[in-house]
Parts: sequence; C-alpha cells; structure tokens
Amino acid sequence: MITFNRPPYIGKEELYILDSIKSRHICGDGAFTKKCNCWIEEKAHTKKALLTTSCTHALEMAALLSDIQPGDEVILPSYTFVSTADAFVLRGAKAVFVDIRPETMNMDERLIEAAITKKTKAIVPVHYAGVACEMDTILDIAKRYNLKVVEDAAQGIMSTYKGKALGAIGDFGCYSFHETKNFSMGEGGALLIQDQKNIEKAEIIREKGTDRSKFFRGEIDKYTWVDAGSSYLPSELNAAYLYAQLENADLITQDRMNSWNTYYKELKEFEEAGRICLPHIPDTCEHNAHMFYLKLRDLDDRTAFIRHLAQNDIKAVFHYIPLHSAPAGKRYGEFNGKDVYTTRESERLVRLPLYYGLGDDIYKVIECAREFLGGYR
Ligand SMILES: *Cc1c(COP(=O)(O)O)cnc(C)c1O
Repeated sequence: MITFNRPPYIGKEELYILDSIKSRHICGDGAFTKKCNCWIEEKAHTKKALLTTSCTHALEMAALLSDIQPGDEVILPSYTFVSTADAFVLRGAKAVFVDIRPETMNMDERLIEAAITKKTKAIVPVHYAGVACEMDTILDIAKRYNLKVVEDAAQGIMSTYKGKALGAIGDFGCYSFHETKNFSMGEGGALLIQDQKNIEKAEIIREKGTDRSKFFRGEIDKYTWVDAGSSYLPSELNAAYLYAQLENADLITQDRMNSWNTYYKELKEFEEAGRICLPHIPDTCEHNAHMFYLKLRDLDDRTAFIRHLAQNDIKAVFHYIPLHSAPAGKRYGEFNGKDVYTTRESERLVRLPLYYGLGDDIYKVIECAREFLGGYR
C-alpha cells in the first residue's frame, strides 16, 4: 500500500520533546517556540513570526488585526481550503470569490479589481501548491484601494516570488504545520507580520488579550487584560517536534523536490500528447514541492484514474469542492464574475502521493499512472 501522505519525521523529534519535558516548560512560548519563530523570521526575512495552534488560527489573527467588521468584504479564490474563508466569515465578513488561472490554480489577479466595492477590506491570495500568486499586481491593487493583503501561505513555506519568501510579502502571512504540510508539528501554524506596528497587538491577541509577552520580556511589572483576544499559542511539545523539521528544512525540501521532478519528467510525454495537464511554475516563482498534481480530461476520467491507482494499492486524492458551491459558501459568500475555471479545473485535478521519504515507491506510482494514461484512450 502506498499512502497519500506520511507526516515528516527526521529522528530528532523525541529528543527535543524530551528536552522540553525535562526543562519543565511545556506550555507555550518556551525555548523551542522561540527557536521556531527565529528560524521563520530569518528564513522569510519577516519582521515577526509567531507560532500558532494552526494556520486557520493564524488567519483568524490576521482577520482580527485587519480589523474586519460585520458587513465587510474580502476577496479570495473559491478554489481553496475552507479556513481561508472561515477566518473572515467568523468576523462577520462576506467572502467574495473570484476565478482562478487554470495554469497555476491560483486566484486570477486580473479579476480582483472588478470585485472591489466600498465594503472591501482585504485580498486573500492563496499560494496553491506552494506556487506564488501574481503578488506585484495584487500589492499594487491593495495599495490603490487601501486594502490589507493576507497571504494564505499554508502550503508556501520555503517558496519564493521574485526572491521574496511567500508569507512575507503582504501585510500578514499564514503558514500551516499540519501533518499534511512540508514541515509539521501535528497541528500548528505561524503568523508572519510585516509591519512593526502590528506586532504588539498580535502578541496581545495571541495571549488571551493580555500584555503577557511584554511582562515576560521584563518590559512591565505585571500583566493585565488590555484587549479582546484568544489563545493561539501552541504547546512547547509541538514546537519541539517542529524544530527538528525546520533544522532539516533543506533536506526535506530536496527530497520532496526530487520526487516532484521525477513525477514531472516521467509524465511529461502525456502532457505533450495532450492527454493531461501538469503544474506550471511561473519564472517569477521558486516552489517548495508541496504537491504534485495532474489534471485529466474531466471528472469521469479522474474518477477512473483514481480507481485504477486504488486497485493497485495506491492512494491518490482530489480537492477542493469550490467554496461557492458548498452550503456555507452560499450562505456567507458570493462568486464575482463568471466561474470559467474554478469548477471545471477542480473536477479534473488529482494529487499523487508526495511526502518526505517516498523513495523508490514513486516508481510504482509512475508505472501505474503510465499504464492508465497510455491505455485505452
Ligand atoms: C492546510 C491549509 C489550511 C489550514 O491549515 P491548518 O494548519 O490545518 O489550519 C489553510 N489554507 C490552505 C490553503 C491549506 O492548504
């Protein structure tokens, strides 16, 4: 059986978790959390990074920091995970969906301006598969209309756009360390903050609305409740697991990249023959091999492909059901313009197994895929 995903595991995780247990500091913001925050700040060249309990929670923090109010609107793709919309819908905002570009599955930046109204507060680009959205255009629009840019970079750690780290380009960036992502802590994420003036407020929101972070830095004598907030800081045990991965980020990325390139090379001929579409990486972008997908002709073709792999004990999956066609999407959102690609392309797409340590099993997947693609059609 070849599974679709296996959580990354380097080997040092137990040691670090034991370290945190022995240090008698297992709640949030201990030594490992600080190491992870610093690692992200250095890697992404961002002013501040704060580990969070999930990417969903990092997005919620970004919505709070962007001062999203009931009745506001945010612009995002419909082709994304629910959290991208949820974080803003929880604040009472309306999700305004725009179509994607078929070659990257990213939100089409050329459609954003037409979706802007007086109520628009933020643009939320999702860097699908760790491949950057067209950020220069998005930043330019945001500047002209005075909108916040919140990057859903859940899949984007280690990727760049014109040399800049994804997540560190907009006002806020959100990473995920869920077990399906390149680096993991089980459940977890990080919020990246570009503007100095948002840092203190972020620390307060993350610490139940208190100025406890300042207290721990010795900047004040006692801490108190200063604003509305929640608890968005993860346990040290989780941070310890993550740090082992971050220390080996290049190793993990290289391994994933080898698999990605192997898939690409071995399936290229079927794209050239017009049988499938493969991911397109724009020149402006360096990606992190988060995902390998291909697109078949249509839904029926995809269903047959997934069944063929399953019959050979290989697990391949698809996503996402476009948010605007889901019950909550209809209640809380609206598609702006025409859905030319979102539904059609989402029905064609399938993800192949890709994880750290996939190894030679990749050749079984490729053989099985080639058998199908070279077969009866
Ligand atoms: C995984 C993912 C999320 C959610 O991440 P969690 O850490 O599980 O909350 C959000 N957006 C996108 C695009 C994702 O892929």
